[in-house]
This record gives sequence, structure tokens and C-alpha cells, in this order.
Amino acid sequence: MARLIVVSNRVPLPDEHGSPPPGGMAIALNAALKKKDGLWMGWSGEVKGEEEPPALITREAGGITYALTDLAQKDLDEYYNGFANRVLWPIFHCRVDLAEYARQEMSGYYRVNRLFADLLMPLLQEDDVIWVHDYHLIPLAEELRRRGCRNRIGFFLHIPWPPADILFTVPIYDTLLRGLSSYDLVGFHTGYDLSNFAECLRREGCGDLVEGGFCRAYGRLFRCGVFPISIDTAEFESLADQAARDEALQENYRRIAGYDVVIGVDRLDYSKGIDQRIVAFRRFLQANDHRIGKTLLLQITPKSRSEVPEYLAMQKDVAELAGRVNGDLGTIDWVPVHYINQSLGRPELAGLYRMARVGLVTPLRDGMNLVAKEYVAAQNPHDPGVLVLSRFAGAARELEGAVLVNPYDPESMAHAIERALVMPQDARIERWRAMMARLREHDVYRWCDDFLSCLHQAQNTAR
Ligand code: UDP
Repeated sequence: MARLIVVSNRVPLPDEHGSPPPGGMAIALNAALKKKDGLWMGWSGEVKGEEEPPALITREAGGITYALTDLAQKDLDEYYNGFANRVLWPIFHCRVDLAEYARQEMSGYYRVNRLFADLLMPLLQEDDVIWVHDYHLIPLAEELRRRGCRNRIGFFLHIPWPPADILFTVPIYDTLLRGLSSYDLVGFHTGYDLSNFAECLRREGCGDLVEGGFCRAYGRLFRCGVFPISIDTAEFESLADQAARDEALQENYRRIAGYDVVIGVDRLDYSKGIDQRIVAFRRFLQANDHRIGKTLLLQITPKSRSEVPEYLAMQKDVAELAGRVNGDLGTIDWVPVHYINQSLGRPELAGLYRMARVGLVTPLRDGMNLVAKEYVAAQNPHDPGVLVLSRFAGAARELEGAVLVNPYDPESMAHAIERALVMPQDARIERWRAMMARLREHDVYRWCDDFLSCLHQAQNTAR
């Protein structure tokens, strides 16, 4: 049996009972790995001394082998906090203004990819199928090929692929494109990302899509496809049902239960449009006097990537903005913006999604956005809330029952919030049913199966 090898920057390790950590993707990949005698390789999350030689620590749990390496602080600064998160993340989210290109960091990015290839190579068997995840590891297949690897290797990009003129602002964009052509399958969330990728190849004169789901570039023929990631829909539905019956949890929500709750849930990241959302919520309150004292925005925003300066600055900006709206519009017994800077567990999130009348998911750009899907899956089928969704989230391509908005236009967002709050029950149910049908059919297990079966087909055709 061909083994499955998953490689990602971080590895979601199982708990002491061997259960995967919460999160649809980890659960789906764990299930696939278990079936295929699998191995998951990545950074351990630990920092090692510069002088310590790189090594892989392997451990078995729940039928899966985990192969982990520590990284030196310099590696993390240059590869993870540096090129990956200060160049690729902003550029791929169309924030050219935030990208800070440093040659030193670019070489750190390639150095860590070479290190991953060096460590992985001795573990590989002839029939292994390798699935590489995300923008941290774009050059990995090329590095493995250089070391003689002939296995099938697939790559999935979890973030958007930008338009050509934006990608071309990265000084080494051509090496990224060339790196992707070493894979046997390259997967994106949406057709828009795939066509941006093809446009980059065409503009460079180095490749294009060809019939039957293939791409020819840099002298190689490889598969390319669209695989929208999703959630464990059934699990989220049941978490929300349980939360609705959980008296202790409901008691916790008592203080906000009497209000019309509009919910936002995002990592603290500039791509999520949190500032713009708070501004829009303020406009909504100012334009709708009757909502004063009755509606609140519950914004749950765990901190992320605090080592990257742009993220630190943003922590301060969002907190100040929420404080200003509360200071300007709040009253003794009503706080318009409940801003929570911590991470909540999935059962609690599911319960909050269920009680919120509006799910306000308005990223400026997002590969998919799982929160949008979770919000839908958590709704009460007989009295669902309304999803207000940015047209620039990958999820907007699938969730046609959402009220779509332009997150750069606060007035249209303010209007959409009011429209969602007054939407009649039958219209809400109709929209919800359409979205839920899609999510039931296209859950995270389907995403995983579709990608892997396409990668298996790549064997005979792409070589
Ligand atoms: N999430 C969570 N606790 C929180 C906030 C978010 O578990 O306090 C989860 C959320 O349920 C979702 C994920 O984090 O599954 C965020 O995924 P998404 O695709 O929306 O955004 P990303 O953070 O990957 O850019």
C-alpha cells in the first residue's frame, strides 16, 4: 500500500489519548493518514541552538508517525516570520504595501526548505505519496527532485493566489512559479486563484493550462485543480445543537442573550478587515437609531503572529477603534462592541454562532474562510441567522445564500447588516438550506478525498 506523507510548517499533534486536535483539516488529514500508514512531517514548534545539528524526532500516536524538527531562531526569523509572513502572506493577500522584501530572509526561506528536503528524503519509500501544504513550503518539491525523489508530490495552497501584477512585485516570483512546476498536482481553493496562477505563467511566457485539468510549464506537465477546503459539517451542526442544550454555556451567554448579536470571529490579521468591520458597524448604528441599545457586535479575535511588527501595530489599532466606538456610542447599560482578544474553544464558538442573528465575515481577501462555513453549519434550521460575507473570501464562490458585501465600502456593509436583521424567516430558511446542502455535500473529508484521488491519478499521466 502506498503510504501518505503530509508535510506542513506546523504539525497538529494529537493529545495524550491519540485524538487529533480540534479543527476540520487536522481531523480529515489524520483520518487519511491513518488509512495509509501515514507520516506527518513539520516543525516541532520548538527552537534549537544555532550550533545543534538538525534532526528529526519521530513518534507514533493513533496509527500515525509524526516526524518533527526543531528550528533555530535565525531560521524562524528569516523563513517563518520573515519571507513567509512578511512577503508571501501580504503579497498573496494583495497587500503589496505591507510586504518587506529582504534578500537575507529569502535565502532563509530556501534554506529551511532544503533542510526539510534533507530530513524527509531518507524516510521516503518508493510508492509514498507526498502532500505538501501551503506557502511556507512552495520550493519543497523542487528540492526533493534535486535529491532524486521520483514520488508523486502534491501541493495545496491554503491562501489566495494573487493576480500577475501583484505576484510580480516579489523579486523572486519566477523561482516560486518554477518551484510549483515540480509538483504533480497543484491545488487552489477557487477557480479565480487557478486562473491567476495560469495568467502568471502566460505573462511570463513559461506555461499555460492545457485541456483535462493540466498545466504545462517549465517543460513539465502537471495537474492543476480547484479543491475548496471545508469544515466537518456534521460535527459543527452537532456542537451547535449540544451548545443550545448546555445550561452552563447558556448561562454564560445570558448577559448578551437579550440583544441582537452580530458576530465576527477572526485571527487578528490585517487580511480579515476587522477595522473596516468595526467602522461599518458604527455606521450601521448611526444610520439605525432604533438599533441603539439593542444590537451588539461580538468580535472574537485571538492574537496571532505577534513577532511580526505589522501584527503588533494592528493589536493596538483594533483595540483603540473598538474602545472609541464604545466610548462614543455606548451607554451605562449597553456596550456596542464586545471585543474579545482570546481564542475560544469550538463548542463555545458553535454556541455563539447559533445565538448570533448575523455572521459578519468580511475579510479584505481570504483563501477560503472557514468561519463563514462554521457559522452556517451552526444555525438552527428553523430560525437561522444570516451570513453577511465578503465577496473577496473564497467561501463567497460557494455560499450563494449569503448576503455578499464589499468590505471596502462601510455604507454597503452597514446596509447589509440591517437587511440581514430584518430578513423574514422564510427567506432566511431558504438561503440557509441552499448553503447547508452545499456544505453537507462538500465537507472537509470530501476535500481531502478529492485532492488525494486527483494526486493518485497524476501518477500515470504526469510522468
Ligand atoms: N477559531 C477558534 N477559536 C477562536 C477563533 C477562531 O477555534 O477563538 C477557529 C475557527 O473556528 C476556524 C479557524 O479558527 O476554524 C479560522 O479559520 P479561517 O479559515 O476562518 O481563518 P484563518 O485563521 O485560517 O485565516
